[in-house]
Amino acid sequence: MKNGNSLLASIIIALATALVVIYAFLRPEQTFFVIIVYLSTIVSLSVIVYLISKMYGKLKTSVDAEDFSKITESLNTEIIIWSDDFSFVAMNKRLRDLLEINNKEYDEKEMLKKAFELPDLTPESIGKITKTGSHEAHFTNSEGKLISIAWSTSVIKKRKKDCVYLSTGFNLTEMRKMQVNLNSANDFFNTSMDLAEIGIIMSNDRNKFVVSSVAMEALGLTTSSIDVGTLRTLIHPNDRIQFDRAVKSSDENIREVQNIELRIKSLNGSAYRWYSFRYKSASATSIALFGGALLDITQEHEKDILIERLAYIDEVTEIANRNKLMDIGQKTYECSQLLSYSYWIIVLDIDRFHIINDTCGYSNGNYILRNFAHILYKFVTPGGLAARISGDNFALVLRDYGDDELPVRTAKTIQDEFAKLAVDDFAAISLSCSAGYSKLPDDGNSFLDVLEHAEFALKSGEINNSSICGYEPSMHDSIIGNTELEKALALAIDNNELQLYYQPKIDLKTGKIIGVEALIRWIKPDGTVIKPDAFVPIAESSHLIGRISEFVLSEGCRQNMMWQRMGYPPIVMSINFTSTDFYQNDLKEKVLDALAISGLDPQWLEVELTETLALSDIDFAVAQMNKLRELGVKLAMDDFGTGYSSLSYLQILPITLLKLDRSFITDIQHDNIAYEIVSAVIRIAKSKRIETIAEGIENTGQEDILRQAGCDYGQGYLYGKPMPASKIEEFFEKNAGVHY
Ligand code: C2E
Ligand code: MG
Ligand code: MG
Repeated sequence: MKNGNSLLASIIIALATALVVIYAFLRPEQTFFVIIVYLSTIVSLSVIVYLISKMYGKLKTSVDAEDFSKITESLNTEIIIWSDDFSFVAMNKRLRDLLEINNKEYDEKEMLKKAFELPDLTPESIGKITKTGSHEAHFTNSEGKLISIAWSTSVIKKRKKDCVYLSTGFNLTEMRKMQVNLNSANDFFNTSMDLAEIGIIMSNDRNKFVVSSVAMEALGLTTSSIDVGTLRTLIHPNDRIQFDRAVKSSDENIREVQNIELRIKSLNGSAYRWYSFRYKSASATSIALFGGALLDITQEHEKDILIERLAYIDEVTEIANRNKLMDIGQKTYECSQLLSYSYWIIVLDIDRFHIINDTCGYSNGNYILRNFAHILYKFVTPGGLAARISGDNFALVLRDYGDDELPVRTAKTIQDEFAKLAVDDFAAISLSCSAGYSKLPDDGNSFLDVLEHAEFALKSGEINNSSICGYEPSMHDSIIGNTELEKALALAIDNNELQLYYQPKIDLKTGKIIGVEALIRWIKPDGTVIKPDAFVPIAESSHLIGRISEFVLSEGCRQNMMWQRMGYPPIVMSINFTSTDFYQNDLKEKVLDALAISGLDPQWLEVELTETLALSDIDFAVAQMNKLRELGVKLAMDDFGTGYSSLSYLQILPITLLKLDRSFITDIQHDNIAYEIVSAVIRIAKSKRIETIAEGIENTGQEDILRQAGCDYGQGYLYGKPMPASKIEEFFEKNAGVHY
């Protein structure tokens, strides 16, 4: 088509669209049918324009009335071709019939006046039609029927003195008639919308919404319209911004269907329900039509929430679980890199929780966990999170605003608040927790990295007796240097740089020395003494631990036998085994060899094992312990209460002695729960004929309490620090027969 015709087509389509939009607004319930009518009209208009463009070729030289009628008579629309000097006015039959005019009775001007419903053909009245291109005419026919025609007019030929125009009519009367015919189908349509519970809301000015019956019911309305202000008050405050954004989109030229989820309540004050609002804006003309379908998705939402709860919420504390932490954490990490934000990750561990749980009961344990979570939750700021990672481990993610003191201050406040927590059945117990922290994104290459570094700091704090510890990259130095350390340690073993120190164990009733614990030291050639915590874990992760343990076993037996031969009263030599040692198949044979070589009677040897060791394979652990017991060797459970210990172990494991961990003893004078735990454990152990020893006794106050609680033995700086063989021999002599 030529340019002029394209323009013509566009104008026609735009006008038709405008009319449909106006009508759709006036009769929103019939929107569906209006669209059908609209589409069919557009198609027929396109055909008309095409045919007229053909005809236009013939009008180039003159306006040929005969040709005009040939082409236009069959067209299903009203058409006038006219020149603005009125020398030529041609109407198709369809229009002439509608206007009830006969060419013979009416001259050109009269015909045009009637068609356009103009009292006069003045340059102004005609100019209005030709300039705007649109004009609406209403008149009553001889039967008294109101007829409405929407005209669209465009130039088809410019001549020297005048212009030739094409006016096509859009018969609104016909459209109304069609809609009346369609009413029964329309009812069907509305009924099906109602059955599907889809509500429709529409607006053409962003001030007032016309709503369908389902939407009326949902919003609690008695009329089919609501102003936008009232509708807004029915929307949940948190969802209003996205609703405003949706309404505003009618200004923008977004053609795609959009979808938002909102909570809306009804005017009669019912609870909020969730709706999916699928909307679209259509600004075909200056009128911006905005509207869409409202679908109640409350049930689906509740299901989603339930699924989310199961997947992301910790059941006991009702805060986020590890899954959620990892999910949000990684997003936070990525976001922090993009936006240059930073966060603090604080991981917290409730001290001695397992033992509290065992002795105070699960309901008190859960009560403690819930309250701890509640304390953490109070510190969460926007963008942050509190989560329970596992058992008694929690994490707090806090946005960093450049305050480097924030993690320590927060952890301290948490510790203070937690210490104040009252547990019903244990009125005066004091609770404590430890914290490790790191910074995101600086302290790692992923969220997991940063989290692990905070956990690493927590563990480092435990070793250094610090309850709040920040991550330092230098903390890894010991790990980075592991291979170096391994080499040096191997060399140290070859060069006999390892040496046993001995710490006395005292009978709390008699005050007599009943034994010593052999504690390994690495004495460097320059005299530096390295403590086991610095090298035993490294030895454990390599084959070196086997060599160290063989040395400790044979040296411990040899030394003890030596003391007996020197005339000292026989005492028990305790040696420490790691789980790697303990799980050796030939453990029994090795112990037997050491005893045989040294000549020591098995009753004077005791093996200390930690409780975590029994966790890996409880059946094997029990079998292995029984083998040692069969030899006559004693078995002690070391550091009881620090790991995942359970009092039920006392039933299963064939141990002869239970060592209460130093952390209980340190606080025993001031912390009721520590006291309660210690006395409960002593009572239970006694009932199983297991002896008890407290490690880390540093003062007589602790000693008195332990003695009263029925603890059999004690070990700690109060009696003596670990010392080399020569020093402990002096100690034996000095304290021979001494009662503490
Ligand atoms: P452990 O077996 O629980 O040893 C007790 C630790 O507590 C010793 O630390 C001891 O010096 C310390 N201690 C004893 N009384 C007190 C006190 O009153 N106050 C304080 N603050 N500390 C006290 P040490 O010698 O540094 O040993 C640490 C750990 O290293 C041991 O804990 C044990 O698990 C391990 N270890 C030591 N020697 C060996 C060994 O020969 N083989 C293996 N596998 N592990 C060993
Ligand atoms: Mg020990
Ligand atoms: Mg210990």
